[in-house]
Amino acid sequence: MDEKITHSKDVIRHGIDRYKDRIAVSCSWGKDSLVLLDLALQVDPTVPVFSLLTVYKPKETYEFVPLVIKHYNIHPRIYMVADAIPPILKHHDVPVILLPADDYKRAEEHSGRTTGHKLYVSDPQRCCDLLKVAAKEYAIKDMKLEAWFSGLRNTEGQTRLTATEIEAVSPIETKINPLLTWTEQEIWQYITTNNLPIHPWYKKVFPDGRRIRSLGCEPCTVPVFDYESERDGRWRNTKKQAGECGIHTRKDEGP
Ligand code: SF4
Repeated sequence: MDEKITHSKDVIRHGIDRYKDRIAVSCSWGKDSLVLLDLALQVDPTVPVFSLLTVYKPKETYEFVPLVIKHYNIHPRIYMVADAIPPILKHHDVPVILLPADDYKRAEEHSGRTTGHKLYVSDPQRCCDLLKVAAKEYAIKDMKLEAWFSGLRNTEGQTRLTATEIEAVSPIETKINPLLTWTEQEIWQYITTNNLPIHPWYKKVFPDGRRIRSLGCEPCTVPVFDYESERDGRWRNTKKQAGECGIHTRKDEGP
């Protein structure tokens, strides 16, 4: 465990040394992001942080964001495709950079008219593209980033097994995964040992023993059993089950 912590901090340090102010920590407010954030702030308390929220995040996530901001005294740049800042964030004076929602609203309206379903049901990939991937592309340009840190880990699920510590997202964008080899158990060990804030969704145990082990948008996240992979509860019963939103997909790969 100590070796993994040291290694992760070394990876973060090298990333910051190399990219200077052109690198930032991405934060989804989930367990892995919190460990990443905690380690990165130990290496450099001024490292920039960014986050992508969507209109479908659960209210518990909106409530958790100001709590983490206060805990670490950070000033993340939060991007969101939406017409208005969620009231909970507004109430806590959390600044949010709103991005135009016209394309999303058009696709949502078309989905309702032609399929009778919300876009996240009829075409979850399109929904993720419009709400998450577009926001991430904007964030990278807006912050003039050449690289970003992610809390991605190999053992989270099938789609992440072959990820590497340093990934070329495109010729001008690099993603660095300092927690790549950490297990779910090690993540929780670090969180409890260091008393990190915990998103309330992780504390729920459903009557059949299932738990939410990977946080996402509310309509696309269900609890899973311990014998399943962490990400098996994402986009359950769709062709995207246990898949990726697209943020972690290289430009030469499919979603
Ligand atoms: S996770 Fe679901 S609700 Fe969130 S952007 Fe993707 S499809 Fe839409």
